[in-house]
Amino acid sequence: VNCPNCGAPMNIVGDRGYFFCSYCGDFLFPNATADGVKVLGEDSSAPCPVCNRSLVSAVVADHAPVLYCRNCRGLLVAQSNFLHVVRELRAQAEGPEGRFHRITEDERRRSIFCPACSRQMDTHPYYGPGNVLIDICTQCQLVWLDYGELSIIINAPGRDRGQREFYA
Ligand SMILES: [Zn+2]
Ligand SMILES: [Zn+2]
Ligand SMILES: [Zn+2]
Repeated sequence: VNCPNCGAPMNIVGDRGYFFCSYCGDFLFPNATADGVKVLGEDSSAPCPVCNRSLVSAVVADHAPVLYCRNCRGLLVAQSNFLHVVRELRAQAEGPEGRFHRITEDERRRSIFCPACSRQMDTHPYYGPGNVLIDICTQCQLVWLDYGELSIIINAPGRDRGQREFYA
């Protein structure tokens, strides 16, 4: 796959089916599925911790404010909203369960810096459903999710998934 922006060969990102151009920094998502993010479009002053473009304001689950990167499609969410969003989106989930996600060495090795305070974020396994590593700034109580991580969490098997009455 060649980069649509600069024409250089692109590298595939982990096992996730999307590509990164190490020459110009663009991402390409050939099979992008709706990730439920609605962009409001105001540029923030915060840089994306992965690709350094400006994050924009957006919402997930129709109401929870996040900062979103239009290039790599990662999102930054307050820890207090994160658990709420997960519970709500899992309760509303329809369609088939996701397949098991294997954490790659690249994911384990990566470290990023908090867009709000510039400290190194902690990389943690997420303790809820879905086998993903998430990046947390304990100082700012912010969580960074790479593209696809939220949908892995939402679509991981579990009794609360698709049970609207479970969620109050
Ligand atoms: Zn490129
Ligand atoms: Zn980015
Ligand atoms: Zn921080």
